[in-house]
Amino acid sequence: MGYIPDIRIEHDFRSQGDKYVCIECFGDYAIQEFIEKFAESKKCDYCKKSSKKHNIAANINDVILFILEGVETEWGDPNNEGVGWDSGEGGYYSAVVIYSYDLFTEELDLGIEREELLSDIIDAFSDDMWCQKDPHGHTLRVTELAVADELAAAAGLLMGKLERIPAVLIRDYHFPAAEGRARSLVRSAERDLFR
Ligand SMILES: [Zn+2]
Repeated sequence: MGYIPDIRIEHDFRSQGDKYVCIECFGDYAIQEFIEKFAESKKCDYCKKSSKKHNIAANINDVILFILEGVETEWGDPNNEGVGWDSGEGGYYSAVVIYSYDLFTEELDLGIEREELLSDIIDAFSDDMWCQKDPHGHTLRVTELAVADELAAAAGLLMGKLERIPAVLIRDYHFPAAEGRARSLVRSAERDLFR
């Protein structure tokens, strides 16, 4: 593999071996441009097109890495995106989570007509699941709730500003007590996204 992406890639993918793919196997312009730039073989292993003089095909793993780089701007790993897992129902909630097959056959249009090529790309991510990232491109990372803060905020709403209610008593709120102290919820300056 020769291609090194600019950004950190979150997903691992399975190598599809020493195969090469040409621009005519893709309908997507950005991918075609990439293949042109990184071509290092005179023959396409998918459509069998070949050239005597020029390199016309790029390594399939480089191409997959390039595709992944684009996909990851919009689609993330649900385990990294703070998508809730409902252990009662045994499924993700609060976001649509799909399999690699659906991502590459329904959500993305890479302009691939060859079955073999599409199935190699899907195979590279076989067991992965994907969820759409926040439309503003932020990754949801904060999942820790400080229960005491939440209760205080709720009480604040009930007390109002000028209602002359000095205190609100909350009874019987059930929550699992955490180990450790409130201090441990305070993030260090480098990890604090809100500062
Ligand atoms: Zn081809």
